[in-house]
Amino acid sequence: STVLSNLQQQPADALLALIKLHNADPRADKIDLGVGVYRTDSGATPVFAAIKAAEQRLLETQDSKAYLGPEGDMDFVHALMPYVFGAANPTFDGRIEGMQTPGGTGAVRLALALAKRAGVARIWMGTPSWPNHAQIVADLGLELKGFGHATPGGQADMDSLRAAVASAQAGDAILLHGCCHNPLGIDYAPAQWDEIATLVKAKGLLPIIDLAYQGLGEGMEEDAYGLRRVLGEVPEALVAYSCDKNFGLYRDRVGAVYVMMADAAQVNAALSNGHALARAAWSMPPDHGAAAVRIILQDQALVALWQGELDEMRARMRQVRAKLAASGKAGAVDLAPLGSQNGLFSIVPLNAEQILAMREKHGVYMAGSGRINVAGLTMGNIDQFIAAVADVTS
Ligand code: PMP
Repeated sequence: STVLSNLQQQPADALLALIKLHNADPRADKIDLGVGVYRTDSGATPVFAAIKAAEQRLLETQDSKAYLGPEGDMDFVHALMPYVFGAANPTFDGRIEGMQTPGGTGAVRLALALAKRAGVARIWMGTPSWPNHAQIVADLGLELKGFGHATPGGQADMDSLRAAVASAQAGDAILLHGCCHNPLGIDYAPAQWDEIATLVKAKGLLPIIDLAYQGLGEGMEEDAYGLRRVLGEVPEALVAYSCDKNFGLYRDRVGAVYVMMADAAQVNAALSNGHALARAAWSMPPDHGAAAVRIILQDQALVALWQGELDEMRARMRQVRAKLAASGKAGAVDLAPLGSQNGLFSIVPLNAEQILAMREKHGVYMAGSGRINVAGLTMGNIDQFIAAVADVTS
């Protein structure tokens, strides 16, 4: 037989398959809670006005599209740092530097590849998690060590985290969601982050913090609490950042990876490995979206416009969550916990049969895990969703 015919059919991505089913459904009142993008109360995912303004300026002023380098747009990388690491000391005294990546996915990929290059063999991670975390860990040949992220009661499971850290070895890495946990929406409270920072430091673990939804949870500053708290404690860390949600740039693929070293003098050497890995993988990141973010962040009026739009998104998601929580029990499902969860996602505890009935009988499309995109709910369809949950569980 031929060589390429050795490539076996891979299972279709379940969420992409769900999009196809949703598109083919003729019902006017169908509800898509699958895909992870923000939607307005009228169901749209518009380009931010701040991005439109920045793109306009980019169109008028950009005079070359000559290559940058594997590090991408460093003015973008630096302009983001006060928001991520705090305006008071955004470089942690020169100990943090970064590079642009193709989205948060590129940033997670590079962070894990850097950890591997540095000699890390095991990645500890709360489960369930964003499915791509495990895929990237496996693709890099790293060993994944899972622990439960949440208790059955819907709290962050500190006991499992403590047990995981206790059985980890110094030099292992721990991958943490900075905020707006995907898929559970269950974040660590500030006091829990304080403990995590102490535990991770004491054990000598390398923290890898994935911050893909800053500003979509409780606010830009609040959502960075855990990251800053952990980085304030440990000598070294890696941060994977995405601008794809908080600037609505999804397909433009805007992200950055940051390295924090014990000593500022070590930063360039460490990051040169990121450049080498990027060169061998994608050479350099796509420019357009990062350039638009840079233009916003360098202009106070555009910053105000962007933050207003982000505030509106967050307020809408809070409104949806409050309405779900206020409905309390929908059949056998208690929706109250969704009120205090954060970000785009939560899990509604339905079984496979109930999820199928949600789709077939009620036109509600949700992932097989029970994950819903809360931004897929609007003041116009939320009652239909709650009634559907009640119907399939009673
Ligand atoms: N990390 C997490 C936890 C995510 O949920 C996502 C997006 N779904 C990403 C990283 C990557 O985002 P992107 O590559 O679209 O910027």
